[in-house]
Amino acid sequence: MLGLMQSQPLLISGLIEFAERHHGDAEIVSRRVEGDLHRYSYKDMGQRARRVAKALDGLKLAFSDRVATLAWNGYRHLELYYGVSGSGRVLHTINPRLHPDQIAWIANHAEDQVLCFDLSFLPLVQAVHARCPTIKHYIALCDADKLPADSGVPNLQSYESWIDAQNTGYTWPSFDENTASSMCYTSGTTGNPKAALYSHRSSTLHAYAAALPDVMCISARDSILPVVPMFHVNAWGIPYSAALTGAKLVFPGPALDGKSIYELIEAEKVTYAAGVPTVWQMLLTHMKPAGLKFSTLKRTVIGGSACPPAMIHAFREDYGVEVLHAWGMTEMSPLGTLCTLKNKHDALPEAEKMKIRLKQGRAIYGVDMKIVDANGEELPWDGKVFGDLHVKGPWIVREYFKGEGGDPLVDGWFPTGDVGTIDPDGYLQITDRSKDVIKSGGEWISSIEIENIAVAHPAVAMAACIGVAHPKWDERPIIAVVKKPGMEVTRDELLRFYEGKTAKWQIPDDVVFVDAIPLGATGKMLKTKLREMLKDYKLPQT
Ligand code: ADP
Repeated sequence: MLGLMQSQPLLISGLIEFAERHHGDAEIVSRRVEGDLHRYSYKDMGQRARRVAKALDGLKLAFSDRVATLAWNGYRHLELYYGVSGSGRVLHTINPRLHPDQIAWIANHAEDQVLCFDLSFLPLVQAVHARCPTIKHYIALCDADKLPADSGVPNLQSYESWIDAQNTGYTWPSFDENTASSMCYTSGTTGNPKAALYSHRSSTLHAYAAALPDVMCISARDSILPVVPMFHVNAWGIPYSAALTGAKLVFPGPALDGKSIYELIEAEKVTYAAGVPTVWQMLLTHMKPAGLKFSTLKRTVIGGSACPPAMIHAFREDYGVEVLHAWGMTEMSPLGTLCTLKNKHDALPEAEKMKIRLKQGRAIYGVDMKIVDANGEELPWDGKVFGDLHVKGPWIVREYFKGEGGDPLVDGWFPTGDVGTIDPDGYLQITDRSKDVIKSGGEWISSIEIENIAVAHPAVAMAACIGVAHPKWDERPIIAVVKKPGMEVTRDELLRFYEGKTAKWQIPDDVVFVDAIPLGATGKMLKTKLREMLKDYKLPQT
């Protein structure tokens, strides 16, 4: 017997329709490429998203055709989120930090038909358009009078004139909720990038879950600053969860330096911000010497890379901001776990609570996880044994776009490529990516743990731990360190700093001081590049 409740597909357009009707006056503020602040409401956004949908009809775009973006976080990008997906096309957000060759490769692979871009990326578009034969239309996200003359980009028009030509009389179409809504390519550190293809259903369920109190706790009382880019896994789904709850949205545009972010947080009374650790490092580096404090910021979700304990401490103790440590990946839309305490932890001493907060957190309803050994056997949740982390759930990939890479699942579970422990309370702790684990004398050393200790040293700005071949132990860890400007620490001082903080055999064999650690397009440390940089390095004789 079927239930007798109304059946309504979960569609992206449903989110904006709800937002317009129930909190149409909630604000959306954006720092524009032009430098000024733009503000309007969800109601305005909904109307302009409809114009986008009509304009796409005008280009004769078919259902499920791909519309690509190369854009910062801002209101026009948001309109594309809703206009493209809402009208049944697929939004393909491209990471502008990728190499032009990679951008051309993924635009061809996705068979993008339209490319919408912020003017900051005009040189990139000029560099790739000749290699992107599927793209028929180029839309510059600007006013008509800002459209560059003689750009050499074919079929180029300004976004404002493109959508101005449309009226807002548009009814969002209804279709199967399993239809693709957006796509995002993984950074492809090994081999060609592969695309996760999200659906209306998966994105809506993820948006619901992301807003839960034990997840991002997003509400109509929040003013949210997603520093995490809209070209990186849909800004962790915040553009959808914000429309669902009526939270104010504050977009930083291209201004991601510490000073600009701080000023925006204060001016727009931001209560909640989300981003990767490197961005927050820039913010803290700006605030500390100037003695600045936050007046409204309460929470920040940090993920994408392990958040160093020193950062969690600094936000909490120096600025009164709660850090919610999150773990996820492109293939997971992206949220998998988030760290919040349970009721039973209330009575724990502060130091014990902190130990829990440093972990990546508990699974969100919708995601199941397990750790397995080399034979695929599930390992116990004792917080000690670590294994390969596998996940499953309705917003986790079943297959990559165009079947790239074959069937990624193992017995219905997606192997994440991460290694971690799960404790009896269900808290996940990531120890490494499997390719970064250091295997020393038959034991595994967590590169994340070794890095976290180094960055707790006051003179260390950034640290990356890699394994180096060793005749006796197979591999030994060394740590590459970037010093904070004007600060000093010697190799021996830093190695002494490890004493008592980790087992003796896990202490790195050496410290290598470098000017910078190579970062990938999503702000993560690129250990493959670092290993290349240090290929002639020899371990000290002991
Ligand atoms: P990529 O395209 O590089 O895979 P993702 O953003 O999808 O980009 O990266 C996901 C990976 O980032 C995870 O598999 C994990 O290795 C790492 N990661 C994300 N969040 C965390 C975290 N909180 N702690 C440790 N590692 C993390």
